[in-house]
Amino acid sequence: MLRVAVVGSGPSGCYTAQSLVQLGRDVRVDVLDRLPCPYGLVRYGVAPDHEKIKSLQNTLRTVLEHERVRFLGGVPVGPGGVPSARLRELYHAVVYCVGAATDRRLGIPGEELPGSWSATEFVSWYSAHPDAVDDGFLRGARSAVVIGVGNVAVDVARMLVRGTAELSGTDMPQAALDALAAGRVADVHMVGRRGPSQARFTTKELRELGALPDTAVVVDPAELALDAGYRDPSGLPGAQRRNVEVLRDWAGRPAPDAARRIRPRFFLRPVELTADGDGRVGAVRFERTAPDGRGGVTGTGRYEEIEAQLVLRSVGYRGVPLEGLPFDAASGTVPHRAGRVLRGGVVAPGEYVAGWIKRGPTGVIGTNRPCAKETVTSLLADAAALTGRALPADPLPLLRAEGLEPVEWSGWRAIERAEADLGTSLGRHVVKLPDWESLLAAARTATT
Ligand code: NAP
Repeated sequence: MLRVAVVGSGPSGCYTAQSLVQLGRDVRVDVLDRLPCPYGLVRYGVAPDHEKIKSLQNTLRTVLEHERVRFLGGVPVGPGGVPSARLRELYHAVVYCVGAATDRRLGIPGEELPGSWSATEFVSWYSAHPDAVDDGFLRGARSAVVIGVGNVAVDVARMLVRGTAELSGTDMPQAALDALAAGRVADVHMVGRRGPSQARFTTKELRELGALPDTAVVVDPAELALDAGYRDPSGLPGAQRRNVEVLRDWAGRPAPDAARRIRPRFFLRPVELTADGDGRVGAVRFERTAPDGRGGVTGTGRYEEIEAQLVLRSVGYRGVPLEGLPFDAASGTVPHRAGRVLRGGVVAPGEYVAGWIKRGPTGVIGTNRPCAKETVTSLLADAAALTGRALPADPLPLLRAEGLEPVEWSGWRAIERAEADLGTSLGRHVVKLPDWESLLAAARTATT
């Protein structure tokens, strides 16, 4: 029997576990997560109003409930938890599916001003991530700037203009719902440094902005037309062409009267966040860019300021180094060959990666399936060599003896029940528990 630890229970971890038990008959898998809750970014990244994508949790659930798969939450790997070397002693193989845990930086003055946050911090807050901090994000803001034009930018722009009626049916924590519902943000500027044909959002997500209640999407046809791909989209790949057509449609008709406006902007490169009289962010200063004909842009020396009491930097995620594993700082990933971790260019037997820590933070959730399958194929090809080593008995009592308190599946089910109860008490459906204390207290009721 091959015993495998999968570190991380997001989509890549679950798809890895699924491939392992589907492709290998004599395999047992422990899926470890530092949080007491499974599903990674499906639970803590997918926007609460994207219920269809969120329902993917039901598919991932069947993986974690498989008879040869075991979920062990509340088990951090690395400092303060199980060292990676210890994990190698307890399992024949370890697959790291830890995602890209931090956000990229802009590296411009004023980035740290109060009122400026990474989109990740904002998303974590409204997704009830237990490490999130309620920083009073909205604080009376009337104008918000979202820097970046990827799907996360679209998510946060949309969440900023949603009202109570649309949010109360979601599982978002009550405090975030109250704050968003009371928000006064009337203008959300979503700003790209390149042109509309180079934006990273997907068409379905972009189009959704045009269907939000009491919200107008306002674009400037002249700004869009700075992009050759907008003027003549015939040579663009399908996804980009469809994005451009959605923007053209908005540009071609007057924006309706509405309480709130989302303003996609292009060819503006952020150069500084400037403070208001109270030392909080008051505006973002951009340099107007121009296409360089090779897909990039150059500065024009012309500047524009956009007023903003709230700035969300949505410029992508970044992988962080893992204790005991090699790391390529340039790409923010672990070097690998078909999922096998490489140390100094040489395969490290028994160590694997899948998901964003393997290929970088790109693609949609489904991209993780083939990615996981490739890694699992490598792992299973190595199985004969890996199982030559005798392992201690079940790792769970050993982890407990070493001071960890893993949250098993029954503990997670207890958290789910507590979230359903909380929802009922608030007259809502399921409402997420937003902090460590209440999650762990709920998990403990599984055994009492
Ligand atoms: P992303 O797709 O990589 O977009 C990052 C954006 O930030 C790009 O517009 C990029 O512009 C811009 N950017 C990067 N550095 C910048 C800088 N220094 N100054 C100004 N702009 C900068 O990242 P993401 O939005 O975080 O999404 C991550 C992944 O999750 C993507 O694969 C996304 O599709 C996925 N996701 C999917 C969904 C969904 O399917 N509904 C929802 C959320 C996330 P350049 O192109 O010019 O670099």
